[in-house]
Amino acid sequence: MVATRQIDLSRALDADEIVPYFQPIVELRTGVLTGFEALARWRHPVHGPISPEIFIPLAEEHGLIGTLTGNLLRRVFSVAASLPQELCISFNISPLQFRDPSLSRQIDSAAQLAGFSLKRLILEITESALIDNIDQAQSIAQDWKAHGISLALDDFGTGYSSLRHLQSLPFDELKVDASFVREISDTRESRKIVAAIIGLGHSLGLTTVAEGIETKDKADMLVRLGCDIGQGWLYGPPVPPDDLSDFLSRRSLSPIHAISSFP
Ligand code: C2E
Ligand code: MG
Ligand code: MG
Ligand code: MG
Repeated sequence: MVATRQIDLSRALDADEIVPYFQPIVELRTGVLTGFEALARWRHPVHGPISPEIFIPLAEEHGLIGTLTGNLLRRVFSVAASLPQELCISFNISPLQFRDPSLSRQIDSAAQLAGFSLKRLILEITESALIDNIDQAQSIAQDWKAHGISLALDDFGTGYSSLRHLQSLPFDELKVDASFVREISDTRESRKIVAAIIGLGHSLGLTTVAEGIETKDKADMLVRLGCDIGQGWLYGPPVPPDDLSDFLSRRSLSPIHAISSFP
């Protein structure tokens, strides 16, 4: 079964079945678009869509993550290079990739090929990338910063949540995990946790980002709590590159309000 899946993943890579989709990220107070998060999608010809939570670990297990990431970076940067210059692109890096010394070169060469400026790139890592060797993590992160890349701590609050990670690495963004956002209008506790995370982020000079915003009342609550930017179904799901220009032209007609009817 595992061997079959491995062959299938290699085949899918050769057949370019795994592609990036792009989810809008907006400034919560104004609704102005600030960028997109690239999210990998595998549309399997027989099994239909397969979640990245399944195929990313599979690619890591079978030594295919380097090839997959290279493919994704090339596609993401070539799309991003054609988007308005003020828009940033967030790209997820899994814990294993984070330690891969060739990743930096892969990013550089893909960006050069596409003519994409790394000043527009935000790399997202989770806390599990940081647990074993903080010194090594620091030098990797500093190398990225030297290239002009920004750094986000993804899914904050769900993993090991050592505050030392926030202190020792040069993060630019703190992403509040969707599990807190989901409960924000239901329980006082989750509201207080989100308020505390936002306060912590701001006191460290970080931009705070909320994930999984599905409703207007949650967006309003996040604005009241001072959260800076966010993403979620309310503003739009991840869409294929071909749909981006349509999204952008509709967006420019009504930048202030969430496009709840999209797509
Ligand atoms: P993540 O980076 O935390 O991404 C956010 C996830 O929340 C995405 O799931 C997105 O589709 C989903 N989401 C966005 N808005 C909403 C909403 O309003 N409601 C709900 N319920 N969900 C929402 P997705 O695309 O399935 O990705 C899952 C995880 O897989 C990502 O979590 C990320 O850790 C990983 N991943 C995705 N693409 C890549 C990739 O290219 N490389 C690596 N290494 N990991 C990736
Ligand atoms: Mg992410
Ligand atoms: Mg996340
Ligand atoms: Mg996640």
